[in-house]
Amino acid sequence: MSNVQKGTIGVTTDNIFPVIKKFLYSDHEIFLRELVSNAIDATQKLKTLSSFGDFKGELGTMDVKVTIDKEAGTLTVSDHGIGMTAEDIEKYINQIAFSGAEEFLAKYKDTANNIIGHFGLGFYSAFMVAKKVEIRSLSYKEGAEAVKWECDGSPEYSMEPIEKAERGTDIVLYIDDENKKFLEQGEIDLLLKKYCRFLPVPVISGKEQEWKDGKMVDTDRDKVINNTEPTWTKKPSELTDADYREFYHELYPGQEDPLFWIHLNVDYPFTLTGVLFFPKIKNNFELTKNRIQLYCNQVYVTDSVEGVVPDFMMLLQGVIDSPDIPLNVSRSYLQADTAVKKISGYITKKVASRLEEIFKNDRQDFEKKWDDIRIFIEYGMLTDEKFCDAAMKFVLLKDTEGHYYTLDEYRELVAASQTDKDGQVVYIYATDPVAQYTYIKAATDKGYNVLLMDGQLDSHFIGLLESKLQNVRFVRVDSDVVDNLIPKADKRAADLTAEERDMLTGVFRSQIPKVEKAEFLVSFEDLSADANPILITQNEYMRRMKDMAAMQPGMAFYGELPDSYNMIVNVNSPVIKRIKEAADKELLPKLQPLNADIVSTNDQIKSLRDGATDGKLSDDDQHKVNHLEESVAHYRKQEDELSASFGKEQALVKQVIDLALLANGLLKGEDLNAFIRRSVSLL
Ligand code: ADP
Repeated sequence: MSNVQKGTIGVTTDNIFPVIKKFLYSDHEIFLRELVSNAIDATQKLKTLSSFGDFKGELGTMDVKVTIDKEAGTLTVSDHGIGMTAEDIEKYINQIAFSGAEEFLAKYKDTANNIIGHFGLGFYSAFMVAKKVEIRSLSYKEGAEAVKWECDGSPEYSMEPIEKAERGTDIVLYIDDENKKFLEQGEIDLLLKKYCRFLPVPVISGKEQEWKDGKMVDTDRDKVINNTEPTWTKKPSELTDADYREFYHELYPGQEDPLFWIHLNVDYPFTLTGVLFFPKIKNNFELTKNRIQLYCNQVYVTDSVEGVVPDFMMLLQGVIDSPDIPLNVSRSYLQADTAVKKISGYITKKVASRLEEIFKNDRQDFEKKWDDIRIFIEYGMLTDEKFCDAAMKFVLLKDTEGHYYTLDEYRELVAASQTDKDGQVVYIYATDPVAQYTYIKAATDKGYNVLLMDGQLDSHFIGLLESKLQNVRFVRVDSDVVDNLIPKADKRAADLTAEERDMLTGVFRSQIPKVEKAEFLVSFEDLSADANPILITQNEYMRRMKDMAAMQPGMAFYGELPDSYNMIVNVNSPVIKRIKEAADKELLPKLQPLNADIVSTNDQIKSLRDGATDGKLSDDDQHKVNHLEESVAHYRKQEDELSASFGKEQALVKQVIDLALLANGLLKGEDLNAFIRRSVSLL
């Protein structure tokens, strides 16, 4: 036993292992990624040495094996890489603050890019799951002696020479009781699939299985876990569309084909490769499940890419691989990192220019896919200034007939017919082509174009376009009667006397059913004779406020307000004319004496107020005014009752109101039922 070297691991804390177990990585499973990465690293190093002529021996098979020995309770990671001498172990393992990768990189810095040296205390993560760890290693160096290092998780280790025929390193983990699951092949397969799927050296674990006598059994063929040459590591010129699609399905099985992809490839000022896919989004669940994966030299790191890619790109899928992204650090650190910021800016630029290229090269295809990608582009424009500027060139507007226009094309299309009296071009839009059908029809009949803005983000997107486009205003197609959507000259008011207006207001208002959380303002307009007798519109500004309130908690006040609608009565419509004639004949004579009473009472009130000294009435006069005001209210009530009973007798009044409500989806329940019965009896 004289050859056994004993010593204390060179760390300052008394016992680093509890710290490692607790804080180093929150996920215990990461130990496997670390050990396999070290094995790959050692393999790549030897290949590099060989290519420089610094290693002259046979490379032989260069795979990495992960083996389970259930009886011994061990999990072993073996490689045929450079191995370690006792001195190497002393230097790289015992002095754990010292990273071997750094020294190596300094020597071979230009070609050794693909060496994984980013994981800090990687090797020691083995103690998260093992009660004892052995290193058995034979260095590639000529005349090297094989060595065994052993440590049970206390700061003491022991090291001794051993017999080992094959070059390379075995890391043997004696799995502790809490982590027995890591002795199951199924569990190890899952982890290797997650972290090692695209490693550059073949990783072998377990055997291929085949179907025999009604069950799956092991064959004697080794099972290779990984694809050593994933698509993103190849040159775009060597790849076909089918290769990209195949890779997409390898990443996300069971998905529909992606719409587009972007192959990323930078080597200055940072190194980054990858392929991003625009998925065909079917539901939100898929979005959260299939996310962009971050790799570091083909080692899977995470799919939490917040901060690395711009927010809006979280909707994309695919792979980003960069040795320049700092790993195993907190998210806030990641976001503040300047390298990461540059990466994010680069990806934005690249995505925008690729989209522009697709748009220019194959507009037809771009239009075909537009409905699927618009949410992504609109989100990008809303959240990223630079992307927005770039996207102004290729963002499309779609009209209700299914035609697509760029922003410039659309302005040109509508400028002549849709410019209002103040020189603003009015973009008319619909959010629901079925519910707003009558309004869309009225607008298109008048020669206007109507945009379809039915996307989830469109209410915000409209605001963005209004701020970016000069002299452009959006109005929803049902926000006013078609003649008022684009005010051309000062509009014609309906030709009614004040008395007639009051009378008709009373008649129509009395017959509006109670609609929950809705308020109706009756007004009269001189529209064309063939326009609908009554139109219900909702003010654009109020509606936008309420839409926004629904999404933003701070604006709850607007959400609480009732919906206020304009009920516009078309005095030119033949039906309305008939109602007015009947009212003139039957109702007006009854209202006139009451009107006269109101006028004379109001006169009395006025003269009492005029006679007040310094605006203050005497007690006596105040008393009289109060009395007179009560009389006016009384006359008005009588008038309302007369209007209501007239309105009730005129089935047509109720009918035209209900028709307008029906066109807006506001007629429901009992009122709808009454409408149907009334319609039948009118037939
Ligand atoms: P890092 O990988 O960040 O350097 P580790 O703690 O994982 O940190 O490893 C420390 C050092 O031990 C490595 O840099 C390497 O020199 C050496 N090492 C670890 N595993 C192996 C191995 N399988 N073969 C050869 N050397 C290894």
